[in-house]
Amino acid sequence: MGDTSLLLEIVKNMSKNIIESKELLTELDRVIGDSDHGINMAKGFSAINDKLEEMEGKDWGCILKTVAMTLISTVGGASGPLYGTGFLRAATVVEGKKEIDKDDVVNMFDEAIKGIKMRGKSNRGDKTMLDALIPAYEALKLAYEEGQNSLKAFKRAEESALEGVEYTKTIIAKKGRASYLGERSLGHQDPGATSSYIIIKSITEILE
Ligand code: ADP
Ligand code: MG
Ligand code: MG
Repeated sequence: MGDTSLLLEIVKNMSKNIIESKELLTELDRVIGDSDHGINMAKGFSAINDKLEEMEGKDWGCILKTVAMTLISTVGGASGPLYGTGFLRAATVVEGKKEIDKDDVVNMFDEAIKGIKMRGKSNRGDKTMLDALIPAYEALKLAYEEGQNSLKAFKRAEESALEGVEYTKTIIAKKGRASYLGERSLGHQDPGATSSYIIIKSITEILE
């Protein structure tokens, strides 16, 4: 898939897009949470953006670990440790690597999801970030199995993530703050699924 300069471009674009989506994510969280998802994520990704220079020349594992630890230490709220665990687990797949291939991408994604599930004691259908991430992972894996390149595979992943975001409107939250609302969470899109979509879209944009 690519070298570490590609990864740094991706991380930079994630930061930009998350910071630009601060209001949107906060508004979504206002409806079914505590109005801070955009604030939390923008804080984390601003701190990551500040570390871009020091991450230059490092391997994939090291860069992803820095991203993970920054999210864990700067984001107050459920999403920080959850995304942090995801990035940390992905980092373990590519430890010491300067260049990664399609298998690494699939394994990183798989590990990240396993980490989030474990940390959040959550699964698909709970109205969380996993409802965007799991379908995205499945679409990506299938596209690679069909012999598609990374751009096409991530395009498919992005589309499936967006479908996952839409799907969160139709289900009742079972995890996180939105679960306190019970049936009143119906009809509303999950903030974390939305930030996951933005994160995946940020990868596609750089591959284009
Ligand atoms: P907090 O809820 O602590 O204020 P955020 O608002 O930053 O944290 O993040 C909320 C998002 O985190 C939710 O929209 C949901 O997608 C995700 N989330 C919450 N709890 C879980 C969990 N147990 N597993 C997976 N994702 C979760
Ligand atoms: Mg919140
Ligand atoms: Mg909060």
